[in-house]
Amino acid sequence: MLEESLIHEFYLHITWFIWVYISWLYEYLLGNVKQQRQKENIINVEYLAQSIRDRQTGSRIQIFRNKRNSPSNSIRRPPLSLTKEDVIIKTRATHFINLGSANHIIAIDTSSKTVTCEPGVTMEELVDALLSYNLVPAVVPEFKSLTVGGVLAGAGLESSSFQYGQFADLLIEATYILSNGQIIICSPKNNSDLFYGALGACGTFGLLIRATFSVLEVKSDCFVRCNYFRTNRPMESLASLFHHDYVDAIVFSDYTVIITGEQIDKLTLPKTAKIQTFSKAWDPWYYQHIKAVHSKSNLTMITEYVPLKDYLFRYDRGAFWMGRYAINPLQDRVQCYPRYIRNLLNLFPFGGYNILSRTLFAPIFTTSSLYKRLHASSMSTVAETLLIQDIYIPKSKAEEFLTFVQSGKFFMEDGGIIEPIWLCPIRSTLTLQKFSPHFLKNDRHDDESFINFGLWTHQPNWQVGSCGARHATKALEEEAMRLGGRKMLYSLSYYSRDQWSSIYDVEWYKEMKRKWDPDYAWGDLYEKLISY
Ligand SMILES: Cc1cc2nc3c(=O)[nH]c(=O)nc-3n(C[C@H](O)[C@H](O)[C@H](O)COP(=O)(O)OP(=O)(O)OC[C@H]3O[C@@H](n4cnc5c(N)ncnc54)[C@H](O)[C@@H]3O)c2cc1C
Repeated sequence: MLEESLIHEFYLHITWFIWVYISWLYEYLLGNVKQQRQKENIINVEYLAQSIRDRQTGSRIQIFRNKRNSPSNSIRRPPLSLTKEDVIIKTRATHFINLGSANHIIAIDTSSKTVTCEPGVTMEELVDALLSYNLVPAVVPEFKSLTVGGVLAGAGLESSSFQYGQFADLLIEATYILSNGQIIICSPKNNSDLFYGALGACGTFGLLIRATFSVLEVKSDCFVRCNYFRTNRPMESLASLFHHDYVDAIVFSDYTVIITGEQIDKLTLPKTAKIQTFSKAWDPWYYQHIKAVHSKSNLTMITEYVPLKDYLFRYDRGAFWMGRYAINPLQDRVQCYPRYIRNLLNLFPFGGYNILSRTLFAPIFTTSSLYKRLHASSMSTVAETLLIQDIYIPKSKAEEFLTFVQSGKFFMEDGGIIEPIWLCPIRSTLTLQKFSPHFLKNDRHDDESFINFGLWTHQPNWQVGSCGARHATKALEEEAMRLGGRKMLYSLSYYSRDQWSSIYDVEWYKEMKRKWDPDYAWGDLYEKLISY
């Protein structure tokens, strides 16, 4: 059984490599044709609404997007990429609506500094369009393929979140189609319960078809001055750094690197400035770069200058560090070999991360491509081999949670370690975003901010059929719950109904459903998210 699944995973790996290169060639040769086709594809709102009105009474609505440009960034079964056949097997009473690519930017208003777009616009498309007007969203979740609809209905933060909160906090107006086919526009003043309540509710109140949000002005040729400094007291350092434009941190096993950033104009770059990019095939992956500069230098503080777009998507190549498991498919097998043999293997393209592998396989190790590989595996394989969670912990409890994570106590096997760990401070919200991870319950006034812990790992013993990854995920869920933390809900969750209702306001959710989706046509959030 184990051998069979290993062969199957190996087969998926090979077909993934071949497909990525075929599509890369296709995009390279036929890119313009593809773009032209996408332009014809504006959402026909009235048609969609009518199709929802005409559905069979009592049927569930399922969004079907065969033209989506990028894979879903959710780890649980991607909701928007199910094939018709997948769902029809389960139930016949499903009504499909096809959203198409839905990736049009409808208006950019430079005077009011707002942008209006369709939900399928990716972060990269958004940033490219806005930068030509010297504008940028205040928060840009860092994977190029994340979509506006996905980060509003799910969650999205980045290193500017300590000032601005989540991407959803930039929202000014949203348009939904409800399950009765009604098209409804909401804002903080109009239908404000839906406006806030739908954020983080994973599409269980309606279909988002249009969003307007605020953006910031930036210098015309903007760079980010990045300061990297090493510390052994990450939480103390993070607490004192709020006068920068950007703040995040990477915890390695021996030290933490705090990263601060300031936007600056290219014209004011010092003559001796070290410019570093992260978008070219041969550029280093960001976390590897941070590690390398600190291991080569005795300085505790290092400064370099990064073009704004490269900074915003600096974690895209290698998907933070998840790409390291795909770049070396044999790593679990060679664990028992002496270190010098492993180091030698590292020099070969398939042996691990090195300049040759990251350059030759650049199209393979974008986040978007890595998600395609992940979604090819079965959900049980993902649950048994990977721990992928983002957990927001109240600032006052973050130190305690970090100690718990680093203790490795929750691993079933000895020697387990989560390394690196991403830390990203985020301002909380008191608005009614009741399912968002940065929602502040009124009884917690002391914790006006959270620290997001990005915990993404695989351990050598976590193979198909093992239960270590599930066990560790559940233990982290429980510790986070004890400390008043909440997860981003994009990944696997194992909460019981009781645990769920101790975290989330279930009565409020039922009331909202009665008002906006009385026959649960868009599904129930708990049922949509929970894995067993
Ligand atoms: C390893 C890893 C690291 C991550 N790190 C970060 C991070 O650092 N920062 C960050 O911000 N996020 C991070 N994420 C999470 C990511 O932001 C969320 O998963 C996000 O919700 C996914 O966006 P998507 O566009 O792929 O949405 P999808 O996966 O397509 O959808 C997400 C949810 O939104 C709903 N939805 C989508 N479109 C619509 C619509 N038009 N109308 C109604 N509902 C809709 C879907 O039904 C689904 O429930 C990470 C995820 C992973 C796996």
